[in-house]
Amino acid sequence: MSCVFCRIIAREIPAAFLYEDEYVCAFRDVNPVAPVHILIVPKVHVVRVDAPEVCELGLPQHIFRALATLAREEGLQEGGFRVVSNAGRGGGQTVDHLHFHMIAGRSLGWPPG
Ligand code: 5GP
Ligand code: ZN
Repeated sequence: MSCVFCRIIAREIPAAFLYEDEYVCAFRDVNPVAPVHILIVPKVHVVRVDAPEVCELGLPQHIFRALATLAREEGLQEGGFRVVSNAGRGGGQTVDHLHFHMIAGRSLGWPPG
């Protein structure tokens, strides 16, 4: 298996897990761009956010439940946070397994670069 996130989900590569349900899990990004940088990832290998399987498998409700739980547990509700899913090379995606970045803990500029 060559996908790094599939290997993390299979516990072949270590990661700091923060959340897990039947369909998704969340762990800390190994190269954080902010004091809080969490990746929310479906357990099944789906390439990106616009893949048909995302809705076919009912992933959105699990992803949104994960981010709401993490916002509460990581204490991000008051200070706020950003959720981003890069899609394709032009969108900045480097790992071709769907993931949502949850970033917080510093002031975040807009628009992103
Ligand atoms: P993308 O560039 O595809 O939007 O985001 C991929 C993210 O995965 C990057 O922020 C990168 O730091 C993170 N990442 C890549 N390899 C690993 C790894 O082995 N472990 C963890 N925890 N994060 C990783
Ligand atoms: Zn994968």
